[in-house]
Amino acid sequence: MAKKLIVGNWKMNGSRAFNASLLADVLQGLDGPMSCDIAVCVPAVYLGQVMQIASGTPLAWGAQDVSVHEQGAYTGEVSVAMLKDFDAHYVIVGHSERRQYHGETDAAVAAKAMAALAQGVTPIVCVGETLEQRESGRTEEVVKQQLAAVIHAAGHCTSELVVAYEPVWAIGTGQTATPEQAQAVHAVLRAQLRAASDNAERVRILYGGSMNAANAADLLQQADIDGGLIGGASLKAPDFLTIVNAAN
Ligand code: PEP
Repeated sequence: MAKKLIVGNWKMNGSRAFNASLLADVLQGLDGPMSCDIAVCVPAVYLGQVMQIASGTPLAWGAQDVSVHEQGAYTGEVSVAMLKDFDAHYVIVGHSERRQYHGETDAAVAAKAMAALAQGVTPIVCVGETLEQRESGRTEEVVKQQLAAVIHAAGHCTSELVVAYEPVWAIGTGQTATPEQAQAVHAVLRAQLRAASDNAERVRILYGGSMNAANAADLLQQADIDGGLIGGASLKAPDFLTIVNAAN
């Protein structure tokens, strides 16, 4: 079984002062031996600050989006090379907020994942259904289609991916999937990964969607839940540390 992975998604939150204080508290809480991997995905403008503070600690860092382009006239975009310049280890691709507010298609998400893989940055590929899709019995179909686009592009590199199952109805709503609901979808995704790769067990499948200090342990006990992608609770050091400890 793969080492568990806990990733904070700060979204568009933070300031230099807030980040310094949050990271100091998190790092202070990571004093014992670590048997899981941990990271924070931060707004790109703060990568330099996080690199300075977290270098040499167990905490890795990454970004929340990336351009498919290598460089040039793409105003506002940030390239994989730029993320690497700040030692970013991960990049979230296809978060539902990017799919919803920025019209990111499955093809665009796959292209971003490929751009990251090509330069050794690990993409955290988000998939998940809306409430309407769940209620109409389409959850499996939707998540498989989203993941298929990336698997098709990644081919033999599929085992290098991290996947995050994030039901859209659970993100930022306080309405978490039950451990059974989450495990059922994770098992579907695992089967899809197994069909595509001999090394599917290496792929960490994270659960995201209102994971918090109170529900993390139950979710992380499920057979195919290999970690968490944590939004709101990653902005509070004690809550984030409780989740890390549940995975550790
Ligand atoms: C997320 O945005 O990736 C997320 C899981 O958010 P929250 O934990 O706040 O639901």
